[in-house]
Amino acid sequence: MLKNRRALITGSTSGIGLAIARALVAEGAEVILNGLGDPAEIEALCDELGASYNGANLMDAGAIAQMMADVGPIDILVNNAGMQHVAAVEDFPPEKWDAIIALNLSAAFHTTRAAVPGMKAAGWGRIINTASAHSLAASPFKCAYVAAKHGLTGFTKTIALELATCGITANCISPGYVWTPLVENQIPDTMAARGMTRDQVMNDVLLAKQPTKSFVLPEDVAALAVFLCGDAARNITGANYTIDGGWTAE
Ligand code: NAD
Repeated sequence: MLKNRRALITGSTSGIGLAIARALVAEGAEVILNGLGDPAEIEALCDELGASYNGANLMDAGAIAQMMADVGPIDILVNNAGMQHVAAVEDFPPEKWDAIIALNLSAAFHTTRAAVPGMKAAGWGRIINTASAHSLAASPFKCAYVAAKHGLTGFTKTIALELATCGITANCISPGYVWTPLVENQIPDTMAARGMTRDQVMNDVLLAKQPTKSFVLPEDVAALAVFLCGDAARNITGANYTIDGGWTAE
């Protein structure tokens, strides 16, 4: 379905981004990986997927500009890289705030502004931004993440309107809790911030949010991304698709 389409997926060396990369390759797309990680493991992923790799640090606007120039025109842009930090607002390190806004929000602007001219020239494009249930609802101790994800949906709606007549769609996917390193790594800080055990965090904080009482699978998110890349989704733009086990229905 996506033969002859070139896709750049940020933060695709792990978790949701890697699942999206695998799913797009399965549909015939050429994939460019981005993200941090062990060089040998990334090389193995490139071999597995027939992919290329650009290791730009997305907290650096200059590095993003260089990446976009090196990668060249793309048909599909998935802004997926992200990070989390859990702390009360008065204890939240300002450098963590800046890093989360840079990676989870500003990076999507920097990649998009560089990708759009090529998509316009081709008359076809798909921009998919991995937002979060936290683009629609807040949780305490995640001020930077919630602010960035709310901002990402506003950015997405704006570009959807700007690009509506250009054959380019822009949408958000908003997962609830997906079992990836991003979730696993926040458990110790959440234990500290809330004075809880690991089991209490798992059941009373994470899965308490999801009426289905189960984690979303990265592959489920990837299947939604594939759908949004397809022709049947040509009139879906400016949307924010939740895949959150019912979290935001409450
Ligand atoms: P992950 O930690 O498994 O993957 C994050 C990816 O971002 C990795 O490839 C990492 O190398 C990359 N990355 C981190 N810092 C980077 C930097 N400075 N420059 C370039 N790449 C960088 O996390 P994940 O859970 O797969 O998260 C992917 C996206 O999904 C994020 O935007 C996250 O906010 C969002 N999300 C995750 C969940 C969840 O429960 N896991 C829920 C909702 C939304």
